[in-house]
Amino acid sequence: MKPFANEPILELRRAPVRAQLAGALREFDAQGTLQVPVWVGEDMRHGSELISTDPGAPDRVVAEAAVATEADVDAALQAAQRGFTTWGRTPAAARAEVLVKAAGWLRERRLAVTALEVREAAKPWREADGDVCEAIDFLEYYARAAIALDEQPDLGFDLLQPPGERNRLRWAPRGVVAVISPWNFPAAIPLGMVSAGLATGNAVILKPAEQTPATAFMVVKALRESGLPADALSFLPGEGPVGARLVEDPRVHTIAFTGSNQVGLEIFRRAADTKPGQSHLKRVVAEMGGKNCVIVDSDADLDDVVPALIKSAFNYAGQKCSAAARVLAHEAIHDSLVERMAGAVEVLDVGQASDPEVDLGPVIEREAQERVGRYHAEAERHGRIAAVARDVPNRGWFATPTLATELPEDSPVLTDEIFGPLLAVERVRSVEEACDRVDASPFALTGGLFSRNPGTVEYVAERTPVGNLYVNREITGAMVGRQPFGGNRLSGTGTKAGGPGYLLQFVEPRVLTENTVRHGLVV
Ligand code: NAD
Repeated sequence: MKPFANEPILELRRAPVRAQLAGALREFDAQGTLQVPVWVGEDMRHGSELISTDPGAPDRVVAEAAVATEADVDAALQAAQRGFTTWGRTPAAARAEVLVKAAGWLRERRLAVTALEVREAAKPWREADGDVCEAIDFLEYYARAAIALDEQPDLGFDLLQPPGERNRLRWAPRGVVAVISPWNFPAAIPLGMVSAGLATGNAVILKPAEQTPATAFMVVKALRESGLPADALSFLPGEGPVGARLVEDPRVHTIAFTGSNQVGLEIFRRAADTKPGQSHLKRVVAEMGGKNCVIVDSDADLDDVVPALIKSAFNYAGQKCSAAARVLAHEAIHDSLVERMAGAVEVLDVGQASDPEVDLGPVIEREAQERVGRYHAEAERHGRIAAVARDVPNRGWFATPTLATELPEDSPVLTDEIFGPLLAVERVRSVEEACDRVDASPFALTGGLFSRNPGTVEYVAERTPVGNLYVNREITGAMVGRQPFGGNRLSGTGTKAGGPGYLLQFVEPRVLTENTVRHGLVV
């Protein structure tokens, strides 16, 4: 296998490439409402209990999905138990081959899947394309990582082999993995967790986000149509209760979750409870929310800072887990930074995700629009709104991009994850004070620093608890194999997606010790 390389993103600045994507969008619109089934083993059951719509035009129905019943969850768990007996014994290289084939499947259909994301998740073109590339990357990366784990199980620390004794370490799949995914990276995140589970020989059940079932269905198709045995991966669309059933079932060994803190912490609590007859402890792999801070020191170059902050805070309407939410600006540059940021926020181009020119589209659903509105009102009451975007469409779930300042330190605008286009700027007297504020947060996902002083970079790197710190650049857009991604503290369990070590969460170590000087050799 060739060494891993990131899938190249589309060159959207070129007109012919844009025309191809526009064509894919037209084709997508022409095909009508997609049907998303519950898919367990060989059986597909269609239904229309769950409707996914275009957040920018909520009367446009993108897909109708069946919702998994209790009986479907049970059938999926039975299928996974069966599937595990064969998939778990399939050699790592053969498992990897399926993943690589699935990457090829997606590559061939990347424009169609990108178009689907533009409609179902309101991801602007660039972001939708990036998500599909990341999905391909996860498949390619974990395929290679699984082979490496099989071939070099000692992880570079050879077990000692004294005379007369042979010690071997191997990593065995844990069993059944329940994957519960969010909507904001609707292909890459479910596919990342699913492919890690499968690459290591587990059987997997995917419960996708209720907002984006059609994109998640593509993930399952990519693997199933690339030779994955039917029982190794089942698909259970539905809302939270479907996920909760999986979490509680004693037949599940590992739960791979990405989503909010509230749900993640609930999953931790419930998974800790061992049911009668359960003979294993469940493992929870959880990537959760953040409240990401960017420190801007007095020597920072504001020409670099402003565009990087705008992208970090407002791309995909602030709905990336890594999005910038707070700026901690040194008092020497605070006022000029706010002034320049205000100018940039006012002219943000807010519109439909299908328009290649827009800076940002709508938020995912009405509830998110209302939530951002509540925090906006809170910032207005207890702080100052320094700027809002001037033109915001009123049809669709659009939230007004907002820059807020002068908030009290305990304001919920500064402490809660808002997950929308609202950026708060705070004044600090020093980088030390900024680090104290970052340190006071229970979240530790991503962070940023703008400074020209290498000493400051080292100081902040040493002090900040975040999982991913970005210096003198935007703080979103982590790439598989380049910036392994994930948070610490209440933001996550800390072993990063798209990096070395991620697969270890899906396996358990087994050591075999043999006496090699035994008497009586059987030939
Ligand atoms: P969410 O927590 O509302 O939902 C995530 C998934 O959990 C969905 O599939 C949902 O149906 C399911 N769910 C809901 N209740 C459940 C329950 N009681 N038991 C089991 N499953 C349940 O999150 P969301 O709105 O889909 O996604 C946004 C959140 O995800 C944000 O907080 C964001 O920061 C976070 N996120 C984190 C990362 C990361 O890598 N750290 C990446 C993407 C998103």
